[in-house]
Amino acid sequence: SGSVSTDSEKTLAHRIGSQDSQVSNDGGDADGPDHIWPRQSSLSSREWDIPLDEVILEEKLGDGQFGVVHKGNWHGAVAVKMLNMESASHQRRSEIMATFRQEVATFRKTRHENLVLFMGACVKPPNLAIVTSLCKGLTLYRHLHFQTDKFNHNRIGSIARQICLGMGYLHARGILHKDLKTKNIFYENGKVVITDFGLFSVAKLCQEGRRGNYLTIPRGWLYYLAPELLKDLRPGVEHPDLSFSTRSDVYAFGTVFFELLTGTWPFRDQPPESIIYQVAKGIKPSLANLYSIVEYKDILMFCWSYQAHDRPDFTRLQGHLERLPKRKLSRCPSQPSNPTRSN
Ligand code: ADP
Ligand code: MG
Repeated sequence: SGSVSTDSEKTLAHRIGSQDSQVSNDGGDADGPDHIWPRQSSLSSREWDIPLDEVILEEKLGDGQFGVVHKGNWHGAVAVKMLNMESASHQRRSEIMATFRQEVATFRKTRHENLVLFMGACVKPPNLAIVTSLCKGLTLYRHLHFQTDKFNHNRIGSIARQICLGMGYLHARGILHKDLKTKNIFYENGKVVITDFGLFSVAKLCQEGRRGNYLTIPRGWLYYLAPELLKDLRPGVEHPDLSFSTRSDVYAFGTVFFELLTGTWPFRDQPPESIIYQVAKGIKPSLANLYSIVEYKDILMFCWSYQAHDRPDFTRLQGHLERLPKRKLSRCPSQPSNPTRSN
């Protein structure tokens, strides 16, 4: 029985190692247990498939641009993002499928404390869904715009640093988020979890199916769009090829940072055309009335640099935030009664 246990340990070791086995062939597997599990490599492309009937769907969490999101149970609490393909034409469906597979392939490469845990995908048309861990806290969006929670400087620093860590990791792995916004950042017990990275293209394809062949700009999206992206969104251009880059993600982070500092939106109360005009021209909201330390204002303006190449990257931002001295909280500007806060 000793040899059986050794073999199964080897198999286990191999399986654990095999998640990246296509990449790394080194390690002590020279005489490898491939003969024990010869179909491992052919299995690996399906390794993340989850049959939808294994997932118990519970209440609906909400509607997003991707489709409906449900709470569910699959070996514990999960979030299930169902893709809505109903209104898509036959040709469009195969396009959505291909994009979906590609984006799932990206998603499953991620393992970071500040990123939502990808658990698997249902890839049997017409049932397409993504299963992730369930985030229990509220989104920053809800904290800031509904609960009007006010975070003190140190907390803002901690949240921003964690976002930079998660985003720095994504970029290092060659993944663009493309939809970084406070609605996609959960915050619970001091911990930040970023969701919905790399799902933008499939979400966009599904939207086009539902709303006709043009890309609408939901108001909540506009605020995060870098000037170079806004310029791609000219009326009449049906399938704009948006010039997303690591630096357009940094621009979006700038807006998240602005929300953290002010609890509101840049250019709030202005009509979308006016916002588009100003951002495309490089006009930024004034920070003159913003109660904040100058270092934070500098970071904000740096992230909102007009030229993409002038914006910092997340690793640099993270390091910068890390080095800022902690503030004493005795005169905390975030106390609800404090009248100096700008909004
Ligand atoms: P959006 O991000 O624009 O709000 P989504 O489709 O991503 O749209 O989400 C729809 C709803 O489901 C939102 O209320 C969102 O907070 C919730 N949700 C999405 N992903 C998760 C998750 N992993 N855990 C908990 N709730 C989630
Ligand atoms: Mg989302």
